[in-house]
Order: sequence, then structure tokens, then C-alpha cells
Amino acid sequence: MKCPKCKKEIEGVPAISRYDNKTQICADCGTREALEIIGESSAVIENVIDKIHGIKDTIRTK
Ligand SMILES: [Zn+2]
Repeated sequence: MKCPKCKKEIEGVPAISRYDNKTQICADCGTREALEIIGESSAVIENVIDKIHGIKDTIRTK
């Protein structure tokens, strides 16, 4: 299935949107929503998403 927010195919376990508590979204968008809700700027949010991807890539290559 595809994430309704970013239209990418969801890999692994989906997250539930914090806005309506039922829409399934990808883990990245779940992280974005959580950061939006606490008031982080989009620059900070994208930085965090990048870091999460970096960590995942590091784990995969080990
Ligand atoms: Zn998404």
C-alpha cells in the first residue's frame, strides 16, 4: 500500500496518523507529524528524517 501523505510505498510496519488516529502512513511521515505537532520547523524535521535514514543505512551495511 502507498502512504497517502508522500505517495511512497510503505515499507515494513506503517505508522498511524496522529491527526485522525486511523490513517496508515509511512514511518517517515509518522515522524514528520510527531515533529510538526511539537512545533519543529520543516528544516529541523527534514534534518531528523535524513539522520534516521543515515542510521538505517548504517545498520543495513553492517
Ligand atoms: Zn509517507
